[in-house]
Amino acid sequence: MAEKKTHKVTLIPGDGIGPEVTQAVVRILEATGAKFEWERFAAGAEAFEIHGEYIPAALYESIERNRVALKGPVTTPIGGGFKSINVTLRKKFDLFANLRPIRNLPGLDTKYPGVDLVIVRENTEGEYVGLEHEVVPGVVESIKVITEKGSTRIARFAFEYARKHGRKKIHAIHKANIMKLSDGLFLRCARQVAEEFPGIAYGEHLIDNTCMQLVMNPFQYDTLLLENLYGDIVSDLCAGLVGGLGLAPGANLGVDCAIFEAVHGSAPDIAGKDVANPTALLQSAILMLRRLDEAAAADKAQKALETVYAERKSLTRDVGGTAGTTQFTGAVLAAMAQN
Ligand code: ATP
Repeated sequence: MAEKKTHKVTLIPGDGIGPEVTQAVVRILEATGAKFEWERFAAGAEAFEIHGEYIPAALYESIERNRVALKGPVTTPIGGGFKSINVTLRKKFDLFANLRPIRNLPGLDTKYPGVDLVIVRENTEGEYVGLEHEVVPGVVESIKVITEKGSTRIARFAFEYARKHGRKKIHAIHKANIMKLSDGLFLRCARQVAEEFPGIAYGEHLIDNTCMQLVMNPFQYDTLLLENLYGDIVSDLCAGLVGGLGLAPGANLGVDCAIFEAVHGSAPDIAGKDVANPTALLQSAILMLRRLDEAAAADKAQKALETVYAERKSLTRDVGGTAGTTQFTGAVLAAMAQN
């Protein structure tokens, strides 16, 4: 039999709960049978202390070489300090599509069973271009950039994804009644791309109405196409529909490069206490396994995860259990060993 391929993956454990959930996920990935060589790097405040750089040059080089990374959350200081590491990496590698599947896990008592949504978030422009300045004391301007190129490529990504994965309907989410030019352009691009995909239904909803509709009846949506800021906010809302931030996975995708990371941030309130839920990063890592053509390993990890949720014996506190990160991880490993 041919020797199994070893995947070189850049690993960024991050800070806050990052190192705990990353360690848990690496243990589970290594037990799937897939083979990895991890290139591990600090980023953010921790990297600055060691290397004097928030993103060390060697980290950039590693992603440049490997074209795939698994990343824990890295804290972004609020209201000042250094620029978001997450945003910087997405821009640097032009990871323009942020894909966030939202599905229920078995055994969890959530408001709605059977939620199956996909969020496609534009990842490089909008309000996240970081162009803010003080005009005069007491007045600041923050610039939102929407381009035809950026809007068309994210719309095309969403429709191609929908076609490939058998999804039926895309809603572009906007506020074009107020932001007539920027969101107007986003919608125009989405409409044009929609015409190329007659087999997929296309609709448009206002962002505020969408938030209410999602809470009242998430089943009316299938795939949501959003600008950067709207996508960020709606992702957290949708994570709440299926049990919270501890569960929701994500992938930052470019043309030939990908960084997989959970929707949640570094959750400093629970860091270092062995209580964080590694499920969101694990589900992100399962998306990574599929991209690496490791379908059997992905299925194995997914099945073990679902077994642990269905049994409800080793769940973490955020989803109503009493287990810590370590116990939960042990339960997933044990379920995998029995498969
Ligand atoms: P950011 O804006 O940095 O992305 P966020 O809005 O995603 O952050 P977090 O700090 O990740 O916010 O999380 C908000 C709260 O959700 C945390 O304080 C924590 O209580 C809970 N939480 C987030 N992730 C997890 C997790 N993996 N396990 C358990 N609880 C979590």
